[in-house]
Amino acid sequence: MNYKNITIAGSGVLGYQIAFQTAFHGFQVTVYDINDDVLEKAKSKFNSMSEAFKKDLNASQQQLDKTRQNLSYTSDLAEAVKNADLLIEAVPENPKIKIDFYKKLAKVAPQKTVFVTNSSTLLPSQFAEVTGRPSKFLALHFANTIWIHNTAEIMGHINTDPKVFEDVVSFAKAIGMLALPLNKEQPGYILNSLLVPLLGAATDLLVNKVADPETIDKTWMKATGAPLGPFAILDVVGITTAYNITKMAADSTNDELKIKTVKYLKENFIDKNKLGVSTGEGFYKY
Ligand code: NAD
Repeated sequence: MNYKNITIAGSGVLGYQIAFQTAFHGFQVTVYDINDDVLEKAKSKFNSMSEAFKKDLNASQQQLDKTRQNLSYTSDLAEAVKNADLLIEAVPENPKIKIDFYKKLAKVAPQKTVFVTNSSTLLPSQFAEVTGRPSKFLALHFANTIWIHNTAEIMGHINTDPKVFEDVVSFAKAIGMLALPLNKEQPGYILNSLLVPLLGAATDLLVNKVADPETIDKTWMKATGAPLGPFAILDVVGITTAYNITKMAADSTNDELKIKTVKYLKENFIDKNKLGVSTGEGFYKY
């Protein structure tokens, strides 16, 4: 892997974290977003990210000054990718927006540029053709607060070049990630393939009145040695996300228990703004 110049498209929640992490590890990073106002917002996150890196990683002022020097910003897509070895796409989780973005990108990016998507729920094969370079396209999926929860799931589609895949694995390691390669496409990657059914089973037990959240969490933690139970995890993830996922499952299956769960989450949590850790209360108080 001889990547030097990395472009991050989308400077939102994940995009900016990826940009900061990558610049911190010595790469030249260009942050691209739709306009300069959005980019100003991204720049203003530099200080809070620096504080987090100091507190959580003991980062030195010298390292943070270097990180700032490694970051540049532009809302001109051609300018953003003109030297890019790798482009990391973190635009909204909406297939139409992603397709429009890749079509524009394909027109201006140099042939050498590898594209990776940070999509949580969409598959690389959905976009491979519109990228104009299917063999140089795959998924590199980070988790929120990437400097602490430093997993990087790497997932190709059937036509991803194995050498490109290996380069992205090396890049993930080079920016301090625990690289987790998948051998084939899987909706939800590894993490959400495991986590979504666990959290769904927990809310099924609750709504079915089998046990209360504390008892369910205690069972899971004591029996498996896990530090958190499913309801504590739900509070961290955010109950809005759990609600949206359950609603999608309820709408597509018409499963009675899922429909009941959607109603339960809406009435007891969403409508009361008890959305988990972020609002100070969810299944537990914080
Ligand atoms: P976000 O809404 O916080 O940020 C999206 C950014 O993309 C915004 O800055 C927006 O201005 C920009 N944008 C919109 N249209 C654009 C376009 N056409 N071109 C370039 N930029 C555009 O979203 P997010 O939470 O950062 O999610 C981004 C991606 O990362 C999604 O695919 C999501 O599934 C994935 N992801 C998110 C999380 C998470 O916890 N938030 C975790 C892992 C992966």
